[in-house]
Amino acid sequence: MTRILVLNAGSSSLKYEVIDLAAPDERVGGIVERIGEPGSGVPDHAAAARRVLDTLGDTRPDAVGHRIVHGGTRFVEPTLIDDDVEAGIEALVDLAPLHNPPGLAGIRAARAVLPHVPHVAVFDTAFHATLPDHAAAYAIDPAVAAEAGIRRYGFHGTSFAFVSRATAQFLDRPIEELRLIVLHLGNGASACAISGGVSIDTTMGLTPLEGLVMGTRSGDIDPGVLLHLARLGRSVDEIDDLLNRRSGLFGMAGSNDLRDVASAAEAGDPSAGLAIEVMLHRLRKYLGAYAGEIGGVDAVVFTAGIGENAGWLRARAVERLGFLGIAVDAERNGRGDGARRISPDGSPVEVLVIPTDEELEIAEQTAKVAFAD
Ligand code: ADP
Repeated sequence: MTRILVLNAGSSSLKYEVIDLAAPDERVGGIVERIGEPGSGVPDHAAAARRVLDTLGDTRPDAVGHRIVHGGTRFVEPTLIDDDVEAGIEALVDLAPLHNPPGLAGIRAARAVLPHVPHVAVFDTAFHATLPDHAAAYAIDPAVAAEAGIRRYGFHGTSFAFVSRATAQFLDRPIEELRLIVLHLGNGASACAISGGVSIDTTMGLTPLEGLVMGTRSGDIDPGVLLHLARLGRSVDEIDDLLNRRSGLFGMAGSNDLRDVASAAEAGDPSAGLAIEVMLHRLRKYLGAYAGEIGGVDAVVFTAGIGENAGWLRARAVERLGFLGIAVDAERNGRGDGARRISPDGSPVEVLVIPTDEELEIAEQTAKVAFAD
């Protein structure tokens, strides 16, 4: 019972990977795209799920792990899916209208084609269920907050769980004694302050819009900006589209890929240069803030597409943090792959690159829940 199908459903795509936990390095996977688009031959997620099964042929999974973005306050750990849980995830669509519907569609489609294996939902928010109240609460009327489920939830939890454990392993120290700042920098990006293996603060909030500058999202913004735009006549959907899909690197510099923005900046494009400076400014701000929150840092950890690959950005993100003992060694930072240390020997704070593996984390959590006892 070790073969897990991991499903990650987007609004028009279904990513899948089969991981045999007995041999996690040999994986088969792929993506069904253009779901629901005319002429794609994949009218809906149900058709996409059938296509995934056809592709897998005889390699039938023992269990299915579903990546679900928002677990709200009800789902704070990986959960075996039955009709009641499915309804609970559906009830969260109000709270995460952009993010939960695809996951729910994926669950329904996969349960229909694989009714006899356990299905487990793994939530991006779950790792942050430990946020202390002072980090989870927005300073608004608590009655309004309670009525609408408004609090800070945080995301990228599967990645933070995986990377914090992998960091403890790399350092050969118990996770209980580590104070970490993990920077998950991909197309979506967030930072997490982790103390004793537990999330203490994170940059994303009610939705994945808060915090760092991302590929297409603004990150932190004065909420007054939204009011101002609304008063100027922009609709809710227009503002949503502006902040979620036409901001960040893409909004400022025309591409959501940091590689494009970096080459444009190098070629002298001032808006690309500014986008990078805003992104770096935000990163340094949270590094300093989180060091203060957790009372010192044992390791700063970079992960995901940008964090693992853009050495120049890692170096620049920490360049003024020497006073906290945070520094990178130029030569170490410039080479290597896999889990590695990029701080100088004897440095008071370890600076590491630890590749994330959200699919493996989902597979492991799924197996734990599906085959407990
Ligand atoms: P996602 O959040 O979609 O899972 P990833 O973690 O794969 O994304 O990160 C994707 C992003 O990583 C790309 O948009 C790109 O900006 C960035 N990236 C990948 N490789 C490099 C690189 N060598 N230099 C700079 N940025 C990179």
